[in-house]
Amino acid sequence: MDPRGSIRARHARHAARALGAALALTLTAGACTGTPGGGGTLRVVASFYPLAEAARQVGGDLVTVSDLTPAGAEPHDLELRPSDLRRLRRADLVLSLGRGFQPAVEDAIASLPDRSRAVDLLAGLPIVDSDPHLWLDPALMGRIAGRIAGELARRLPSGRAAFDARAAAWRARLDPLDADYRRTLAVCERRDLFVTHASFGYLAARYDLNQVAIAGLSPEAEPSPRRLAEVSRLARERGATTIFYERLVSARVAQAVARAAGARTALLDPIEGLTREHRTAGDGFLSVMRRNLAAIGAALGCKGAA
Ligand SMILES: [Zn+2]
Repeated sequence: MDPRGSIRARHARHAARALGAALALTLTAGACTGTPGGGGTLRVVASFYPLAEAARQVGGDLVTVSDLTPAGAEPHDLELRPSDLRRLRRADLVLSLGRGFQPAVEDAIASLPDRSRAVDLLAGLPIVDSDPHLWLDPALMGRIAGRIAGELARRLPSGRAAFDARAAAWRARLDPLDADYRRTLAVCERRDLFVTHASFGYLAARYDLNQVAIAGLSPEAEPSPRRLAEVSRLARERGATTIFYERLVSARVAQAVARAAGARTALLDPIEGLTREHRTAGDGFLSVMRRNLAAIGAALGCKGAA
């Protein structure tokens, strides 16, 4: 993270902390819950899109899910508004990923009077190098759904069978996706995936690809000229045809590397959020994952690509 970014992040953390403290004084505790067992619904707040999608899939009509990250916003450096903090306090269940993925969310959760309502879904999952981008591996997305089913059932025991069944149904849609990735990416001319920020580590590990990221785990940090030169040289050496950019952050660095390496750019979506256009088109996790597969298959010259 560059100094400017870290100052901004710190500032956001302080602001969130101050707001949290103010709200703690002015709001009464004990938000009205979805009356577990009383026929109501559980109020779930997810910190960004993939968790909201998983919660909706698993919770069905027994939950109302809201997403803290607005459509089209980049979740890593999300800053919270007072209305977001009120939503957090009223939630029966708050779902997020820890390890510094969304520092403002972590700070706001730390200021909640009842932290037992908040669940860090990274706990208990096979995290590598503090990388939070688990959802891009369909098998790990299935495990996230399983954990959400357990957390919902603890808060609404009468819904347990429904949550388990819905989590199984979501996994039954993720399994064919995984199979398609496996089949399409089995035999390729190249296996190096040149991406903007390091969000495809789990996907690369699952399908035996090698992620080369221009930036680190967070898209906030500007890569140095030296890093740009290094990745450009590697792209040229490995015969990369495509440097991937992503939707929610600038394509500028991908374009610079592509120009230097004689490659083109293409979109690969880390599905950190949906834009309004996605929503208008009826897109969701599965459809974007399938477009990603087509883009990777084409870029790497995979035999199984459509
Ligand atoms: Zn990311």
